[in-house]
Amino acid sequence: MKLEYTAEHQAFREEVRAWLKANVPAEPLQSFDTEAGFQQHREWEAKLYEGRWGMITWPEEMGGRGADLMQWLIFEEEYYAASAPLRVNQNGIFLLGPTLMEYGTEEQKKRFLNGMATGKDIWCQGWSEPNAGSDMAAIRSRADLSEDGMHYVINGQKTWSTRAVWADWCFGMFRTDPESERHHGLTFILVPLDSEGITVRPIPQLDGLPGFAEIFFDNVKVPVDCRLGGEGEGWKVAMATAGFERGLMLRSPARFQETARRLVALYKANQQSADEDPSIRDEVLSAYMDAEAYCLTTYQTACRLMQGGKIGAEASTNKIFWSELDQRMHATGLKILATRGELEPDSPDAGDVGRWLDGWLFAQSGPIYAGTNEIQRNIIAERMLGMPRK
Ligand SMILES: Cc1cc2nc3c(=O)[nH]c(=O)nc-3n(C[C@H](O)[C@H](O)[C@H](O)COP(=O)(O)OP(=O)(O)OC[C@H]3O[C@@H](n4cnc5c(N)ncnc54)[C@H](O)[C@@H]3O)c2cc1C
Repeated sequence: MKLEYTAEHQAFREEVRAWLKANVPAEPLQSFDTEAGFQQHREWEAKLYEGRWGMITWPEEMGGRGADLMQWLIFEEEYYAASAPLRVNQNGIFLLGPTLMEYGTEEQKKRFLNGMATGKDIWCQGWSEPNAGSDMAAIRSRADLSEDGMHYVINGQKTWSTRAVWADWCFGMFRTDPESERHHGLTFILVPLDSEGITVRPIPQLDGLPGFAEIFFDNVKVPVDCRLGGEGEGWKVAMATAGFERGLMLRSPARFQETARRLVALYKANQQSADEDPSIRDEVLSAYMDAEAYCLTTYQTACRLMQGGKIGAEASTNKIFWSELDQRMHATGLKILATRGELEPDSPDAGDVGRWLDGWLFAQSGPIYAGTNEIQRNIIAERMLGMPRK
């Protein structure tokens, strides 16, 4: 095995780096959980699209560059190294986009992918319900096919939908067969959020910003051509989306490598006080090595996919690894900063506190979103280790 970048990869890296250097906003954008910040991030998506960087793995006619997964990983490395804004349309480009590639009709790809790449259509995910979180097969929201077979009528409620407050579209799972149980009889449907009968109610996060929302559906009519995959095939389609979410696209290794690099820099800047606790040095070292290990594993996954393989149940091991690594790195950062860690980055005397507290708070949600880590451990036990369900 030859672990080297080709000359084309190097040239591609230079091109990405130069574009980002010329275009990444000098000042960080406001949080995308605020209305103004959301708009700023949408404009950034449009800028990326202009440079044809919106989603490079998509075909050129759909706004991409036809790049392979190796190039995508290189792009991500440069993206995080340049401190470019987080992607406000991550549910669209990283989750629904690849699912559309696999299950969408040509018409659906033409209709949806371009708007996703330009940032015109921002997507949210409508899976969780008040009584269907970990147990997604308990979904009760219904989509009933009209008598003329032209549209679905949706009734029910979704919750914890990230950035649904300002999103344009929602992809969700709904029960189309009222007699069905569990993962049978569910259908994957794309719903315009400006449809009549939809109410989006913000849920404030701990910081007070409306990062989540509940979505209520009251006789919402959605044309049948918004169904992704066949009727009753929702579970299969959603599992493809979950594979991209846990196993590859949502959290690329570059994100964690960048945090590991910042952690090393923080340690070096505070070495004298940090070395008073010998465990800190070991934690920094482990964090750096773990982030590198995650990167190498992801390159391996990318190679497998490029050779026609599927992500499969091992996406669950990935998800546990990156979410727990993120928690550990931020906890070590706060240990190094000691009492200063509680300061806001822009408060007087904040010095090098940076975003560590913010990052630590968000890292606490890592083991919950994209399927909790307990559920991932169940999947590993049953599907990878072949252990009995009970
Ligand atoms: C930051 C963030 C963003 C999110 N964004 C979205 C979004 O955009 N769209 C969306 O639809 N949802 C979203 N969610 C919701 C998320 O998918 C759910 O919170 C998650 O699936 C858990 O469901 P729950 O909250 O109902 O907890 P529950 O399912 O009630 O679980 C509670 C606890 O019990 C444990 N547990 C449950 N069942 C088992 C079991 N069988 N074995 C072992 N342990 C078990 C769980 O691991 C958890 O610790 C988001 C969540 C977070 C934190």
